[in-house]
Amino acid sequence: MQQPQDNSLNIIHSEHACGDCTACCSRLPISAGIVSPEQKLAGTDCPHQCSSGCSIYQDRPSICQSFECSWITQKNWEAGWRPDHVGLLCLEENLSETCKGAAIYEIRRGALSTPDGIEIFQQIKKRTDMVVLIYFNGTRHTIVKEPTEEKTKSIIRPLTVKGRKSA
Ligand code: SF4
Ligand code: SF4
Repeated sequence: MQQPQDNSLNIIHSEHACGDCTACCSRLPISAGIVSPEQKLAGTDCPHQCSSGCSIYQDRPSICQSFECSWITQKNWEAGWRPDHVGLLCLEENLSETCKGAAIYEIRRGALSTPDGIEIFQQIKKRTDMVVLIYFNGTRHTIVKEPTEEKTKSIIRPLTVKGRKSA
């Protein structure tokens, strides 16, 4: 979701701007009809991606405008933890009033096993009730804190769609 240097979002997130990261545009699935007639599958480039980022940036869909990965929202995260640098794309959202979930996509093989990857996982685990790890090869592993029926149901529909609540 590359942004022009003079875009207002860059000012709002002056320390954590997307810059030339496009991890969410290629890594996340997007429902049919939003950026393409068919569902854009996880791990495939959005048809609107171009060498400068997003070819329809000014008119990009609202889910793209509102989407924020954890690196954007966590102002205390290091600059080097930007998804394209650290190899992890992290999302956090409230799955219900009492259950906060997170997904960590490994966008570079082995990134979850690096010291930075382990630290990111530990930080996210502390502030959420369940974390879905999506390894580079597509394998999923879910960690649930104090499992309840509600949380177990949430596992069936983990966070996957860009900018869209899964619950
Ligand atoms: S993954 Fe995060 S930093 Fe990268 S383009 Fe998407 S919102 Fe911006
Ligand atoms: S339309 Fe959305 S997903 Fe596609 S390149 Fe633009 S910001 Fe990324």
